Amino acid sequence: MKKLAFSLGILSAFLVNAQSIKTTIDLVNVKDDKVAVTMEFPNMKSGDVKFHFPKTVPGTYSVDDYGRFVEGIKFLDNKGKEIPFSKVNDNTYALKNAKNLSKVTYLVNDSFDDEMDTSKHKAVFSPSGTDIEAGKVYLINTHGFIGYIDDMQDVPYQLVIQKPADFYGTTALVDQDKSDATDTFTLANYAKVTDSPLMYTKPDYITFNAGGMDLVLGVYSPSGKYKAADFKDNLEKMVVAQKKFLGDMNTNKKYAIMLYLSGGDGPQIKGFGALEHHESTSVVLPEMMPKEAIDATITDVVSHEFFHTVNPLKTHSEEIHYFDYADPKMSQHLWMYEGGTEYFANLFQIQEGLITKEEFLKRMNEKIKNSKNYNDTMPFTVMSKNVLLDEYKDQYRNVYEKGALLAMCLDIELRKLSNGEMGYRDMIRKLSQRFGENKPFKDDKLIDELVTVTGYPQVKDFYNKYIAGSQPTPYAQYLNMVGVELKSQETPPIFWFIKDANQTGYDEKDNAFVFDESLALSPFAKSIGFKITDKVVALDGKTINIQNIQDFINYSKTIKEGQNVTVTVLRDNGGKAEKMDLKGKAILEKMTMETIQFKANPTPEEKKLQDQWLTGKK
Ligand SMILES: [Zn+2]
Repeated sequence: MKKLAFSLGILSAFLVNAQSIKTTIDLVNVKDDKVAVTMEFPNMKSGDVKFHFPKTVPGTYSVDDYGRFVEGIKFLDNKGKEIPFSKVNDNTYALKNAKNLSKVTYLVNDSFDDEMDTSKHKAVFSPSGTDIEAGKVYLINTHGFIGYIDDMQDVPYQLVIQKPADFYGTTALVDQDKSDATDTFTLANYAKVTDSPLMYTKPDYITFNAGGMDLVLGVYSPSGKYKAADFKDNLEKMVVAQKKFLGDMNTNKKYAIMLYLSGGDGPQIKGFGALEHHESTSVVLPEMMPKEAIDATITDVVSHEFFHTVNPLKTHSEEIHYFDYADPKMSQHLWMYEGGTEYFANLFQIQEGLITKEEFLKRMNEKIKNSKNYNDTMPFTVMSKNVLLDEYKDQYRNVYEKGALLAMCLDIELRKLSNGEMGYRDMIRKLSQRFGENKPFKDDKLIDELVTVTGYPQVKDFYNKYIAGSQPTPYAQYLNMVGVELKSQETPPIFWFIKDANQTGYDEKDNAFVFDESLALSPFAKSIGFKITDKVVALDGKTINIQNIQDFINYSKTIKEGQNVTVTVLRDNGGKAEKMDLKGKAILEKMTMETIQFKANPTPEEKKLQDQWLTGKK
């Protein structure tokens, strides 16, 4: 196995000698959170040159325009003379008669500093963003630093990072020089560049082997609250379980995890989560989280990213295989890439004994509830194909809710059809054997391929109704097959700001309750002119902080119908937060809570299917 990696290294070294794009990122001379980048090119193929930064990158499903963060760009010929250019849009530069182009230099600003100001552009999701904080941390999502020339995307890159001698770079890439002042990496093409993030910090990392795979976990904790070693035991347990669940579907020999904890006097950011790559993942979480919560999140989120090594990273359609960074085309199959992956990230935990079956059911119930905040009759394939467009992008997050539930119902459908012999995992395994890294499938033929690999034409009926069609998925009907029943329960009337109180979020900087823009306001909130983007800082003068949330809820429970109440909010006014009081008479509302639970007396058939579903055994 080592031999294989070694010979690959040699091959890319040969490529470098032939022709490569030498890209230098200077982390030593950093001014005003800006980093200088130099790219040196081999001979141009033509005088008409287009130089791009990505409009979007795989896995993010949003238009981010990474060229926005670049300034002071200069194109130079082989004599060091500047070549005139025109800027086509945020991401693209056009040059004419530029056959002698040999170098481009520019400065890169980070995206983290911009995250809270969405007046000009939607924020970049933090795990695919960039952070430049001299002396502290450099989160280098390479697509935010490095561009490409049309027709030269397959030319190898030699990446040279000039770094403070006492900084360590967490990455899956292998450093090819011995110097403390530079790290040198060879990357086969631009796709490999964007697949290879790095995080430079004062050294805080651990390396270990789990499930036959070499792992490195690097941590940036601004206040020093956490060390990488704190998370080792949990991570190791998770990786062993996950490798066991995947079996021959995953062949990774190494994996790097960059854990960026946000807090202290660092930039204020809000995009918590992670982004997948073939051999690594970048994870961003709030540093204020207790250790147990970080451990649990690592189990959920890092496993999700690692399951992406199956799809879409390995098994995917042509849209992803031939990814167009300047004008991306989306696939119809986010239900599988994201939904199926999210389902795996939960299913492996029950099948490998990391969670109880009650906890598993609770999670699926949450997903059913959360999915109700989205359009349930919009075909998932349509949303997926159009996810970059404004009218669809707010539906994206349903991939983690309904997307996962679609995979669950298809899993149950397959189990039922095959008398428990085959499930969703088996189907994906067969698909990944038929297609792979170098063999994409045709996007509109996926369903036919799934019928072929499973041998069940009924899979297509399921797909046409619930995935490509507009019929809401009958969760209760599927769950019933595995001995699970739906129970509705009404709460007493309660006073709150949104219809589903469970969806309330917390903003630690402002000590305020915050709400996702997709959520529905309660009748009371509507009656006082509350806006979903308002942050609640007090109710009748009672302020909120993370320690006394229960006191606050207890107070809200004393409020009676028709009582006069004052809600103090922070309202965004052209980028400035304005404090104001909203007054009105309380309106209380009953909430229906739907829960799912295991039947006390399932039929023998239901019980058998349930066991097969939850254990993965035949
Ligand atoms: Zn994902």
